Amino acid sequence: MRRLIRMVAFVCIALAGVGVGAQPPPPAVGRVLLISDIHLDPLADPSIVRQLIAAPVAQWDSIFQSSQRKSLSTYGSDSNYPLFSSTLRQAATLGPFDFVVFTGDALRHDFSQAFVAAGGTPGQFGAYATRTAIFVVRELQRRLKAPVLAAIGNNDSGCGDYKIDPESSFLAALSDELAVLKTSPEAKSTFRLGGFFSLPHPTVANQDIVVLNSVFWSTSYSSCTPNIGDPGEAELQWLGWKLYAARLQHRGITLVMHIPPGMNAYSSSQGGDCMNAVGFWQDKYATQFSALMNTYSDVVRLTFAGHTHMDDFQVSPGVTPSLPLKITPSVSPIFKNNPGISVLSYSTKTGAVSDIMTFFIALSSHASAWAKEYQFSAAYGVSAFSAATLSTVTAGIRSGGAARTTFGSNYAVSTASPMNSSNWPYYSCAQTYFTAADYRSCVCGAASVRARE
Ligand SMILES: [Zn+2]
Repeated sequence: MRRLIRMVAFVCIALAGVGVGAQPPPPAVGRVLLISDIHLDPLADPSIVRQLIAAPVAQWDSIFQSSQRKSLSTYGSDSNYPLFSSTLRQAATLGPFDFVVFTGDALRHDFSQAFVAAGGTPGQFGAYATRTAIFVVRELQRRLKAPVLAAIGNNDSGCGDYKIDPESSFLAALSDELAVLKTSPEAKSTFRLGGFFSLPHPTVANQDIVVLNSVFWSTSYSSCTPNIGDPGEAELQWLGWKLYAARLQHRGITLVMHIPPGMNAYSSSQGGDCMNAVGFWQDKYATQFSALMNTYSDVVRLTFAGHTHMDDFQVSPGVTPSLPLKITPSVSPIFKNNPGISVLSYSTKTGAVSDIMTFFIALSSHASAWAKEYQFSAAYGVSAFSAATLSTVTAGIRSGGAARTTFGSNYAVSTASPMNSSNWPYYSCAQTYFTAADYRSCVCGAASVRARE
């Protein structure tokens, strides 16, 4: 009898599996806004700085709007309020979004020095930096009306560049502002302590989004106060446990961070010596992270990063390509790129990314209109943004031709690329080689590296 029941059950499940009767509905497509390196400069109009220092964040928007300076930032400057506001206005027209991925750097460069030069006192700086970050987060949430998953960037600190402290008042203040943290006391607690957290994916079942604080892993990191131990090591142990637990529970993970892993193509290319290989992270953290990614390549589906201000991507090629990583270009035009944002389309059933469309504003044309820059699928002739397609695209860039031209023209968001006919291997090799040794072999060519060793 029990055997018969089991057989009937099996036949029913088999029939359901082949979809007898109604066709399954097509998978729904969701949209995500990718935005990075905003670098808001609340000192850009000196005539309103005293008011901003004196006012609570709730009044900042009206103070910014009272400014007589309405023109957008120019190349070589961080984002003024008109550029930030224009970006959010454009982004809102591209929504609605399921969520927003902000890959860090809310605050302008050289902020503390500029703050004192603009009339602030060193003692006021920490609070001013914190309020600027709060303003950026509030505006993203208010104007995009979607959950904002925000990573800490190296400029996001009340103490200085690459100087974020664990359990700082800066992190505590931001933890109260990020609406996504209200749903999880654990996420709020880890963000408050270390600037990193994990939450269930907003739409895809059985997946999580892990937002990391990769500033702790940077070669430039130093803490603001002494004797804080090794937060970078502790964060990696936390990440290792998250990945282990995800595999046990059959969950996929998307990573979000500011500073990407791997090699810094721009710094490595300075001086023209192909043996010059500069990594973004300290070796010990890069090695441990890479080991985790190898162990859990089936768990980690996708990574988002920023920091370089350029439009770029990475992938681990091989027999089974893995770990697709997207670097979103910056809003700030300080490195002479145009401001850009991207809209990602994905399956809400699997999380798989079907396409990424990038929008930009050409500052050189003095236009005030945003426009579509390019669509990843059409530009590279692929049907998805995945490890497999990135493996093909990066190989195409390496071998030259149309893919390299496309990559070069989009890299600095349709302005003059830092890439040229002699230095392009530094950029191309950084897409697929993440250790100094592998990177040197790629840039120099394996034979010439052996000859020089
Ligand atoms: Zn930046």
